[in-house]
Amino acid sequence: MAAEQALSRRSLLKGAAAGTGAILASGCTITGTTPPQAASVTRCMLPPVRVSEGRRIRSVVGLRPYRRAGFRVERETLGDKALIHNYGHGGGGITLSWGSSRLAIDLGLHGHDGPAAVIGSGIMGLTTAWLLIEQGVPVTIYTKALPPMTTSNIAGGEWYPSIVYSSNAMTPAFERQFVAASEYSYRRFQIMAGERYGVHWHDLYSLSNRPSRTGNTAALLAHILPEAEILDPGQHPFAQPYARRIPEMFIEPPVFLRELLEDIRVAGGNVVVRDFATAGDIAALPENTIFNCTGLGARALFGDEELIPVRGQLEILLPQPEIDYAMKGPGGAYMFPRSDGIVCGGSTDYRNWSTEPDPQLGAAILVNHADIFDAMPCRNAEA
Ligand SMILES: Cc1cc2nc3c(=O)[nH]c(=O)nc-3n(C[C@H](O)[C@H](O)[C@H](O)COP(=O)(O)OP(=O)(O)OC[C@H]3O[C@@H](n4cnc5c(N)ncnc54)[C@H](O)[C@@H]3O)c2cc1C
Repeated sequence: MAAEQALSRRSLLKGAAAGTGAILASGCTITGTTPPQAASVTRCMLPPVRVSEGRRIRSVVGLRPYRRAGFRVERETLGDKALIHNYGHGGGGITLSWGSSRLAIDLGLHGHDGPAAVIGSGIMGLTTAWLLIEQGVPVTIYTKALPPMTTSNIAGGEWYPSIVYSSNAMTPAFERQFVAASEYSYRRFQIMAGERYGVHWHDLYSLSNRPSRTGNTAALLAHILPEAEILDPGQHPFAQPYARRIPEMFIEPPVFLRELLEDIRVAGGNVVVRDFATAGDIAALPENTIFNCTGLGARALFGDEELIPVRGQLEILLPQPEIDYAMKGPGGAYMFPRSDGIVCGGSTDYRNWSTEPDPQLGAAILVNHADIFDAMPCRNAEA
């Protein structure tokens, strides 16, 4: 049903495009008053993503560990131990990881001596462990599941903190924490750019059918992010009338987590696979300073009812190495190019605990992306 809708919408779009512009021999469409040569170059400057059910290689689901009031970096005592929380980063955990973990170890190393324990080996556990190693602290990671079996492995990997807090619940203290974590993370990921850690710069095209407003997060981080370029319809290759181009970092979580875990092991960090049923079990560890990086697991372990899942489903298409740009579009669609496939998102479902892919949702995500990429004038002319 959804696929049929996709086809009919695509044919309509094709028909519309064919009726409004002249098709050049080169396969490009020119419209309006843009000089022909410039228009054809602009129209064809990006290769389209080839979206179809037949190119899908997997569907994945992850639960974002979300708190309305934002992520928790806080020190408390657990029996006679120092316990430092570092969890609840919603849809921005990859982005915020280095900075949030830096705030956590600044709290934890105050008055600390001897080895430290880190609970969890997602992005927060691994960055916390590495920063401790950099400070000369012997570390043991205790974790229920190792990469690739973590939520962090599911993430798309854009460096941008989305779905991290509710503006209504934001306090000045959290705002400072959020900005400080973002600033440090942004710098730290830049020095890891390249193949080894799977950190790459791409232009992100943010498309819309209506003019969009600057959001709270964009305003808070404007001082560290490059300015967006506003593009006129003749200056970009998409059918949507409004477009902005922003250079962004993208992190390939499977590559990044694997390499960081390897670095930790090479540097002498210990890893113990263990599932903690209660906070009491954690208090019984031999280390005196313990970092809680359990993501959504912190809800059951520490009774944090504010921590809820925000379910996200991604459809992964066959890799297309020629795609070196990213896209965010109408209907919440986003596309990130990675070596392990073209990542198509996204969905946002609050308080949904299901980790099973939903086939109907998957089909709808692909329809949404097909509508965007099949409507690129270059693609229409080629087909
Ligand atoms: C679909 C989707 C797309 C996303 N896209 C992005 C993106 O583009 N950019 C971005 O910045 N973020 C993104 N995110 C968010 C990001 O994935 C999370 O914020 C991040 O993974 C949280 O990391 P974490 O280390 O806190 O949790 P996790 O990765 O869940 O790690 C928690 C660790 O704790 C362990 N653990 C839990 N409970 C226990 C227990 N009881 N005993 C022992 N160990 C335990 C687990 O085994 C695991 O090792 C996305 C998330 C989803 C779902």
